[in-house]
Amino acid sequence: MKCPFCDTEMLHGYLNCGMALWSERKHKLSLLPDGKEKYTLHLRQPILSPHQIESFCCPECKKLVIDTKDFENNLD
Ligand SMILES: [Zn+2]
Repeated sequence: MKCPFCDTEMLHGYLNCGMALWSERKHKLSLLPDGKEKYTLHLRQPILSPHQIESFCCPECKKLVIDTKDFENNLD
C-alpha cells in the first residue's frame, strides 16, 4: 500500500495494544463511549494477549493507516 500522504510504500504490520477508543472527544477517566460522540476502534480489555490490529506504517512520514470497519463503532 502506498502512503496516501507522501506516496511512499508502507510497511505492513500490527498495532499491538490493550484497550483503545478512537473518539471525537478526549476521554480522561474511562474508554467507554457515552453515546453522544462518534467513535470507532473500540477495543475492550484484552483477555489473553494484546489486540493485534492489522495496519500500515509509513517509514517516511510515520503515519499509521488502520481500517476500522471490522471493529465496534457507531459511525453508521
Ligand atoms: Zn507517508
